[in-house]
Amino acid sequence: MIFPTVGIIATTSVVSIDVNKSISSAIKKMFEHEHRNIIVIDGDIFRILRVSDILNIKAKKIDLSSSLKDLELLATPVINRDKNVLHTLEYLSCEVEYICVTNDDGSLHGLISHTDIISSIDPDTLMDNFCLLDFLKLSRRTKWIKKDVKTADLLREMAQNSFESVVIVEDFKPIGIFTTKDVVKVIEKNEELDLPISRYMSTPVETINKNCSVKDALDFLKQKHYKRVVVVDDEGKMSGVISQKELIATTYSRWAILTKEYQKELSEINTALVKKNIKYKEIASRDSLTKLYNRYKFTEFYQSAYETMIDRESEMSLIIIDIDNFKKINDTYGHNVGDSVIVQISQTLVKNLRNIDIVCRWGGEEFVILLPTTDIDNAALLAEKLRSYIEDLKVEDVENITASFGISRVVEGDDLKSVVNRADKALYEAKASGRNCVKAGF
Ligand code: GH3
Ligand code: MG
Ligand code: MG
Repeated sequence: MIFPTVGIIATTSVVSIDVNKSISSAIKKMFEHEHRNIIVIDGDIFRILRVSDILNIKAKKIDLSSSLKDLELLATPVINRDKNVLHTLEYLSCEVEYICVTNDDGSLHGLISHTDIISSIDPDTLMDNFCLLDFLKLSRRTKWIKKDVKTADLLREMAQNSFESVVIVEDFKPIGIFTTKDVVKVIEKNEELDLPISRYMSTPVETINKNCSVKDALDFLKQKHYKRVVVVDDEGKMSGVISQKELIATTYSRWAILTKEYQKELSEINTALVKKNIKYKEIASRDSLTKLYNRYKFTEFYQSAYETMIDRESEMSLIIIDIDNFKKINDTYGHNVGDSVIVQISQTLVKNLRNIDIVCRWGGEEFVILLPTTDIDNAALLAEKLRSYIEDLKVEDVENITASFGISRVVEGDDLKSVVNRADKALYEAKASGRNCVKAGF
C-alpha cells in the first residue's frame, strides 16, 4: 500500500492570526469561520488556540483584549507537506493533537489531526468490523450530561477534557446537543453561564440506530448537512456520537485499499484466463503430432473460405491425400518411424503451399488441403508437384514413401462433407489405378 503525503490529507481551510493580535480578535475570527481552532503565528513557530484554551482563559478571567503573546499557547509540531503520513506516527502517542503542515518555504499549508493520521495509516484495524457500532469506539471526546447542569460547569468540563460535543440527555435519551461551535457562540455573545445547558443546546437531536449501516449513516449525514449524529440503541438510549469525517475518512481509506488490492487480483486473474483461453483454443484447433489444423478447425476455415468464394465469384479446389501402404510402413519400421513419415509429409505440404491455402490432418495418414482462388487444373498441377516431392522424401530407412491424391472443385451449395466425398471418390480411383498418382473428380 502507498501511504499519502501529509499535504494531501491536511485540512487546508485553516485560519491563522498573528501572535501580536488580541485574544478577542482571535475568538472573533474563529466565530466568523466557524472554526474550533486557530493557528497563532509566532515568528516561525506555529501555536494553536483551541476552544478549550478559550474556556481556560475565561476561567482564569484573563482580559480578552490582551495579546495572544501573553498566553502560554502550545507550539504544534511542524511537518513538510511532502512527507509521508508515516512520519507523523511518533506524534500519535504524545499529547499533541494537531500537526501543522508546511510548504517548502516554511509557510502554513494546512493542519492534520489524529483522526486524519489514523484514518490514513491503519484503516484495516479501524475497519475490521465494518459497522456503525464499531465506529463509535473511534469517536472521541463525546460526553453526555443531564439537561439541568449549569452551562458554566459544562464549559469547565469541556475545557478540562477537550470534549468536542456534549449530548444532553433525559433518561439516557438524547434531547439536545452542545458542540464547541456553540461554545464559541455562547462566549462571543457573553451569555449568562449560570443558566442550565438546556437553554443553549441545539434541539431536537436527530438520531440514528446503532445497527444502521455505515452507508446509510453517511447518506443521512450528507442529506441533513450534519457534521455528526447521535447514535442510539433500539430503546432510543444514547450509544454515542459519530462524525461524518470519521465515517468518510475510514470508509474512504478502506475503499481505496480494497479497490487497489482487488484490481490487481482481478487483472491477474484476467491475464491468466486470457492466456489459458488462447492455449485451449490452440489445443482445440491443432493436431498434436503434426501441429497442422485439425478437422474441427478446418471446418471453420472452410465455411469462411466458401463464403468468400461465393462473394467474389471465384473458384476453389480441395485435395485429399492418403499415404500409400502406410500399414506396411508401420509394420516394417515401427510406429515411431510411421509418425516421422506423417510429420515429414505434413512439413512438405506446408512448405509448398501458399499462405492462403489451408492444410489439415484429416485423420490417421490422411490430409486435406483447401485451395482458395484455384481452379481444378491448377489444383491438379499443384497436387502433382506435391506427389513428386513426397516421392522424393527420405525418412530413416523407409523405402518408397508415396501418397495418392484425389481432387475436387468446390461448387455452389457444397458443404465440406459433400466436396470431401467427391474428392474421396477420386482418391479411391487413384488407389485403384496403382497408387502414387493424382485423380480429379469434378
Ligand atoms: P492404402 O494405400 O490403401 O491407404 O493403405 P494403408 O496401409 O495406408 O491403409 P489404411 O488407411 O487402412 O491404413 C492406415 C494406417 O495408418 C492404419 C493406422 O494404424 C495407421 N495410422 C493411423 N494414424 C497413425 C499415426 O498417427 N501414426 C502412425 N504411426 N500410424 C497411424
Ligand atoms: Mg487411409
Ligand atoms: Mg493409406
